[in-house]
Amino acid sequence: LGSRQFQPEDTVIELPHSKIGGNNFTMMAGPCSVESEEHVKRMAKVVKEGGATVLRGGAFKPRTSPYSFQGLGEDGLRFLREAADENDLDMITEVMDVPHVEMVAKYTDIFQIGARNMQNFSLLKAVGKTNVAVGLKRGMSATIDDLLNAAEYIASEGNHNIFLIERGIRTFDNKYTRNTFDLGAIPVLQKLTHYPIIADPSHAVGEWDLVQPMAAAAVAAGAQGEIVEIHDDPEHAFSDGPQALKPKNYLRMTKEVFALRDAL
Ligand code: PEP
Ligand code: MN
Repeated sequence: LGSRQFQPEDTVIELPHSKIGGNNFTMMAGPCSVESEEHVKRMAKVVKEGGATVLRGGAFKPRTSPYSFQGLGEDGLRFLREAADENDLDMITEVMDVPHVEMVAKYTDIFQIGARNMQNFSLLKAVGKTNVAVGLKRGMSATIDDLLNAAEYIASEGNHNIFLIERGIRTFDNKYTRNTFDLGAIPVLQKLTHYPIIADPSHAVGEWDLVQPMAAAAVAAGAQGEIVEIHDDPEHAFSDGPQALKPKNYLRMTKEVFALRDAL
């Protein structure tokens, strides 16, 4: 269902404030985690100022350690929804478990399926039974075909509002970058599938000062949008502080990325 042979024309996902795919370029941004009502509302204003149309934030966090912050749960979803609505933004948030699908759907415009859940087939089928858009992240050890097959699990249940997110993969050298940003996957995926391809330079590189150059590179590679993490006090962020762009750097990044995109 996801192949170009099946559907030659690009999928375009229409949300209240954004179009994702085709010739559209969609900026998505926000904190890694929803930390508090005040914080996410402050960050949402910055997100909007940078020209993004989708607000991100995790309320259920897939942390590597069970002792790390796990998210605010349903309160976090409510804060994120309000922050998005107050700024005329769409919302993306991660759903981690099948029993949460219905509840998360009440709040969000887009389900994020995290890298660690890319092959959670029961979760993929569960979001496939809804009509909520799905942003599917590439697993850290997933091949391009693994990613396309994961998307197929969603589409085969009836939900075709899918976009794919390249967020970096593990390679033999991840000493200086959190993952290896597979830029080549972007044009390859666009040959193989009609789904929109979105770049996540934040998780790909893991260091804030590398985000802007890689966001720019993703535009050149043909990404149809980006999803980036921001924070106004990265040293005290509940998660992923080292890769968060401070507001002024986020605004500089979006300005450059939009200018590059216009120049293509
Ligand atoms: C996130 O978006 O904060 C996240 C956990 O991403 P990933 O699943 O790509 O690691
Ligand atoms: Mn994160």
